[in-house]
Amino acid sequence: MKHHITLIPGDGIGPEITKATVKVIEATGVQIQWDEVNAGAEVYEKEGTVLPQRVIDSMEKNKIGIKGPITTPVGTGFRSVNVAMRKLFNLYACLRPCKSYEGVRSRYEDIDLVVVRENTEDLYAGVEFEKDKAETKELIDFIKQKKDAQIRPDSGITIKPISVTGTENIVKFAFEYARKNNRKKVTGIHKANIMKYTDGLFLEVFRQVASQYPDIQSEDRIVDNMCMQLVQKPELYDVMVMPNLYGDIISDLAAGLVGGLGVAPGGNIGKDIALFEPTHGSAPKYKGQNKVNPTAMMLSGVLMLRHIGEEDCARLLESAIAANIKEGKKVTYDFKQDRDDPSAVGTQEYAQAIVDQINSLK
Ligand code: NAD
Repeated sequence: MKHHITLIPGDGIGPEITKATVKVIEATGVQIQWDEVNAGAEVYEKEGTVLPQRVIDSMEKNKIGIKGPITTPVGTGFRSVNVAMRKLFNLYACLRPCKSYEGVRSRYEDIDLVVVRENTEDLYAGVEFEKDKAETKELIDFIKQKKDAQIRPDSGITIKPISVTGTENIVKFAFEYARKNNRKKVTGIHKANIMKYTDGLFLEVFRQVASQYPDIQSEDRIVDNMCMQLVQKPELYDVMVMPNLYGDIISDLAAGLVGGLGVAPGGNIGKDIALFEPTHGSAPKYKGQNKVNPTAMMLSGVLMLRHIGEEDCARLLESAIAANIKEGKKVTYDFKQDRDDPSAVGTQEYAQAIVDQINSLK
């Protein structure tokens, strides 16, 4: 079956790592018709918009996309194309697997964690009250009347909404992911001891949903304790699900356990639309140098192949990436002990080395 997939190269190093990623995905033999449309800062310079309608139309038509990083232009009134797309397509789940690959420099070995972050609510909902604004003063007065709580008059306020609907969606996503991917356990992360009506609600819904999945173990952890546990005993954890802000922090912590941004893939997934992308940004200083590491985007491609049901191609691509990193010969500079090692290869040569691995594994 031929898949129709939206391809957004992005800005900075985006086009280079996209080219490398398309090459290795196609080498697996999967049939894909790419619909290439761009968004971001470079498009903004030509067209005055960071997110043209053709990108939205393409995503709505194809339902699946993969993108390179996008530079957030300063002062366009757009916070970020990524945030806009998450909102527009209700991509409520952010999936970030963090896995050790032999040959990647890291303090830890054998890490295999999956972070599932809620993507639409919490302190990221964008409901904010600026210091000294009349509406902020009204809110402070209202809170004083209703809750007999003092908020200093020189405060700014950010609202933290957490709903039953949003929590059910994300927790079900985590358990379904665990079931589909033969994972053993889901840990719910929260701060319910302090924020009883938001994180407390998250925990209550987590427990209700967990009871519907007797085949998967479940447990919960308070977020601060979880950070320490992940650093001390990461092997105890498997799939972790959490509200938006904790997800932002824990996914960077988990990426740090496996060697950092160069190998951190991601997916933003909704009910019927999904967009895969590396966690890192557009690294503008390396643009056009054929130097950077495309692995995070290639691994995002692995997630995408799994998501569209192409498990064999996903496994082949992941095995080829792992084998090439383990060999450690044809790898980009950041995999080398010494970053100036002259034997490091460029982005496209790295992709070719993975194609060669795919062909030898087939
Ligand atoms: P960045 O991730 O681009 O760079 C951080 C550091 O990591 C830099 O030293 C960079 O050179 C290095 N790096 C990043 N990716 C690499 C790779 N594949 N191989 C080797 N080294 C790599 O973060 P930043 O500098 O904070 O942001 C630059 C731009 O990217 C900003 O405009 C930001 O808004 C944007 N951004 C976009 C996304 C996205 O599209 N999802 C995510 C984060 C940042």
